Amino acid sequence: MTEDRRRLLLLQSLREQGIIDERVLEAVGNVPREAFVETPFSDQAYADQALPISCGQTISQPYIVALMTEALKVEPSHRVLEVGTGSGYQAAVLSHLARHVYTIERYATLAGTAGERFRRLGLGNITQQVGDGTLGMPDFAPFDRIMVTAAAREVPQAHLDQLAMGGILVLPVEERPGRQDLWRITRDAQGFSREHLLAVRFVPLVEGLPGEG
Ligand code: SAH
Repeated sequence: MTEDRRRLLLLQSLREQGIIDERVLEAVGNVPREAFVETPFSDQAYADQALPISCGQTISQPYIVALMTEALKVEPSHRVLEVGTGSGYQAAVLSHLARHVYTIERYATLAGTAGERFRRLGLGNITQQVGDGTLGMPDFAPFDRIMVTAAAREVPQAHLDQLAMGGILVLPVEERPGRQDLWRITRDAQGFSREHLLAVRFVPLVEGLPGEG
């Protein structure tokens, strides 16, 4: 089967699972997922499943990427923060929808590989940083949208602080061991309101940098 055919089947499967935002489907369709998976998994690039990447991390399942992207309601004028660059796939999808994407990763190795992929694909509206994303990216705040792709034990205060008025934050929270839920938090003049989206399974959001003890 050709890559094009595999990509079409993936989009069809996303539609069947309830993804209806055409801009999101188009953005997913525009990103070659095979460029974001490691060589041994190339033939599974368009299967709707998470796959292992370096440093013991994972590239998320396309359905979850699409669902979180749809939940974020990104508009073309938006500056978006993504916490947990990983393979770079989610950032690449967001880069097709937003004005600018800021993405932070605690593993320099992963950030480096993702950066090469962005350059090769000509994605010029992504700014990367290696650091602890639980602190957000204060130098570039506030953000219209924030997406966290690793599970925290509670909503990081920095993410709430760095969310613009009218902003939306989508993130998984592991409130008790083994139970993660995806939340959408909206900020307005009255404060923050949260909506439960679904139960999920992400790698943990880890404070600090690797090797810092
Ligand atoms: N969005 C990624 C998913 C990667 S998995 C993709 O599309 O491939 C989550 C990533 O979050 C991992 O790479 C992990 O190293 C990173 N991560 C975990 N805790 C972090 C932190 N405090 N700051 C930045 N990145 C973090």
